Amino acid sequence: MFNRAEDISKISEDHFDLVVIGGGVTGSGIALDAASRGIKTLLIEKEDFASGTSSKSTKLIHGGLRYLKQFEIGLVKETGTERAIVHKLAPHLVHPEKMLLPIVKGGTFGKWSASFAIMVYDLLAGVNKEDKRKPLTKKKTKEAEPLLSDELLKSGIKYSEYRTDDARLTIELVKTARRYGAAAFNYAEAMDFIYAEGKVVGVECYDHLNNVSFNVKATQVVSAAGPWVDKLRVKDGSKKGKSLHLTKGVHVVVPKEKLPLNQSIYFDAFDGRMIFAIPRGAVTYLGTSDTNYSDSLDRVVSTIDDAKYLLGTVNKIFPSVNLKVEDVVSSWAGLRPLIHEDGKSPSELSRKDEIFTSDSGLISIAGGKLTGYRKMAERVVDAVMKNMTNLKFVPCKTKTIKLAIDPFKNYKAVKEYIDHLSKEMKPLGFSNYEAWYLTTTYGKESRMILDRLQEDKNPNREEGLVDAELWYNLMYESVATPVDFFARRTGRIYFDVESVKTHMQRVASEIQNTFSWNSETLSDIYEELDDMLEDATIFYDSETVS
Ligand code: FAD
Repeated sequence: MFNRAEDISKISEDHFDLVVIGGGVTGSGIALDAASRGIKTLLIEKEDFASGTSSKSTKLIHGGLRYLKQFEIGLVKETGTERAIVHKLAPHLVHPEKMLLPIVKGGTFGKWSASFAIMVYDLLAGVNKEDKRKPLTKKKTKEAEPLLSDELLKSGIKYSEYRTDDARLTIELVKTARRYGAAAFNYAEAMDFIYAEGKVVGVECYDHLNNVSFNVKATQVVSAAGPWVDKLRVKDGSKKGKSLHLTKGVHVVVPKEKLPLNQSIYFDAFDGRMIFAIPRGAVTYLGTSDTNYSDSLDRVVSTIDDAKYLLGTVNKIFPSVNLKVEDVVSSWAGLRPLIHEDGKSPSELSRKDEIFTSDSGLISIAGGKLTGYRKMAERVVDAVMKNMTNLKFVPCKTKTIKLAIDPFKNYKAVKEYIDHLSKEMKPLGFSNYEAWYLTTTYGKESRMILDRLQEDKNPNREEGLVDAELWYNLMYESVATPVDFFARRTGRIYFDVESVKTHMQRVASEIQNTFSWNSETLSDIYEELDDMLEDATIFYDSETVS
């Protein structure tokens, strides 16, 4: 980031085996897979890494119990199996999460259908004995979650999933890909393709931070542009046959005291859909909605109707909480880049990924899940390698590539590290929460942040922590704007919005001091900061948005 102009000038003189467009989880996973197989790889992202759908998901690494109802056996088996693999690759980022499924009157699942579905789910995913489903009586379910409606509740089942931070997972993939030799730039947009004899041989790019155009040469180009995949297929003149079907999903965040759940819950929305309620630190988040979308791809917002839908379902199943729109402290909205199928509603569309190869050789990948990113990358890179006559085929290696410089051996080691950090941080005025937050955000690299915090000696502990994190993010995680910091690297905009309001001016001025962006870039950055806060804290009128 510090020598960006120089680095970009170098890559434009170079020739890459592979250019990957799109720095979401899919593109970053492809970059890691390719680089680790010895492919000379460049990843370009038009905004920040994970700024698209990959920071707007439910943040679960899950097999998708719901998809069993649609007989998506292959998808559930693959994502179900991937959960444990991704957990092993990054135990600090992907944690086991017990999920409670209440069986309710008028709900999607009956006692036996739920039990059968979860048994199949566990079988397909090959879960360990201790993680297998546990059916609960009504009394036990109510004991586990006293807020559940007594009138609606029939029984419950506990089963196992994993929780993550989608944007952090993406940035760790980018960092790991770089360690394997990939070049990766955020704020570098693919504007058009370069052709020779009808084949894509490069990409015309624009550097949004220095406001300059540049070209890159490549043997193969992959588009992992998520919701923007069809826009690039149009540029390539290859948008025919199947196309994307975008659906919007909204999450809302409420203070934990407004919805004090004991665990994560997967419950009925009573319209055939299911919703998650997930406690995280001082908040609980709820989602998601699933509605057709045809508005701006670059600014996706939550509407008042989205909020009312989510809160209405929560109030039905947890009648004593009586959540109101005013209780929501933050929200996010994301787009699912699904493959269109005639006559299907948003929730019925398959979550399977598909690869399209155009006559020009452009490979596009769409659909899929965060959870399945590694297998999607494997399929794409297999296709890329098969086309490359100059390289010997190397099989996928990512099943054993840990997503940290100094990885944790297992989840037990993560918990021990949190305890250790808690003891160290207590005398500095921090609670267990900060030790948990640092470890689950940065793994053992928390050490560097803590050392910086101690060197800095800022008597205001909150400021000290933000400054130390920002220093780390600037040095090692390609942060270029305050929104990168607050939304994608630290998740503060969603999970601690007050801290954003408190620290945004200091963070913005530190970033400006570091990079001395020109006035055009700087005004864009400030505008983006205002938009981010507005979008996270305001519900728009549905009429105005659509
Ligand atoms: P994106 O993350 O959108 O990445 C595409 C990137 O391409 C963007 O960053 C964009 O800026 C960039 N780009 C576009 N055009 C260009 C260009 N011209 N030049 C350079 N860059 C470009 N999956 C799960 O497994 N678990 C969940 O809990 C889950 N929950 C979800 C909840 C919701 C509401 C939604 C919407 C999805 C959820 N998913 C979940 C699915 C998952 O989030 C997505 O499948 C995944 O994040 C898609 O990643 P992606 O990299 O393909 O797309």
